[in-house]
Amino acid sequence: MSLLIENLHATLQNGTPILKGVNLEIPAGEIHAIMGPNGSGKSTLSKVISGHESYVVTDGSVTLDDTDLLEMDVDQRSRAGIFLAFQYPAEVPGVSNANFIRAALQARLPKGQDIDAVAYYKSLYAKMDLLEMDRKFTARSVNEGFSGGEKKRNEILQMLMLEPKYCILDETDSGLDIDALKIVAKGVNAMRSENRGMLLITHYQRLLDYISPDYVHVMAEGRIVRSGGPELALELEKEGYEFLKDLALA
Ligand code: ADP
Ligand code: MG
Repeated sequence: MSLLIENLHATLQNGTPILKGVNLEIPAGEIHAIMGPNGSGKSTLSKVISGHESYVVTDGSVTLDDTDLLEMDVDQRSRAGIFLAFQYPAEVPGVSNANFIRAALQARLPKGQDIDAVAYYKSLYAKMDLLEMDRKFTARSVNEGFSGGEKKRNEILQMLMLEPKYCILDETDSGLDIDALKIVAKGVNAMRSENRGMLLITHYQRLLDYISPDYVHVMAEGRIVRSGGPELALELEKEGYEFLKDLALA
């Protein structure tokens, strides 16, 4: 079981190239982190994997447990087990958080089968407790008027409820204070499993103090230019991205 990205090239709708040959394999059970300067294509990679309509794949492949993800619509990819926690989560006015997650779970059930409301709320509340989220967030519209940190926590709540096979977290740590960061890490660590792969996109080493990755990759100019173990993140924190200049990529 793995999420396999091979020679992935993607452009904007107007033809501007953004991803220029990304290769990455995330076997189930592993946590990979991607770091890299702003504008290097990290969010684009996460959105191309999940099927965002702003991008056109021009070469390469993305396969999930041997099935071609690029052939699938966004919702099919989600039901196949891909989850993306957005860098900038959207607000969905008029849809309560509880109904939103319930609808997403319902969409995963076979036709004619209904969610058990009592079991659903029990599970929702348990996960909100883990994330130290107040119960009032069940009735509020999805992300509407949430602070930056509350939105990020809400993304993790969705992830905990949907139990995806592959989780992609795009800078979920940005904008969090240290207490919120620890809570988010607790949620992510609770999801760690030998049946699940995770991709953490992050700008800072500090998230990796709480979620220890198996591998760290550096993305620059639409490619992965360096890979290593957790020590690579520490090195980047100390030395920055100066080395990219030597690669003529900065
Ligand atoms: P990162 O997440 O590494 O900071 P992004 O993937 O967000 O980088 O962006 C990579 C580059 O592609 C940036 O130069 C960004 O401005 C550009 N880009 C990404 N998506 C769009 C878009 N929808 N429209 C215009 N430019 C975009
Ligand atoms: Mg980004």
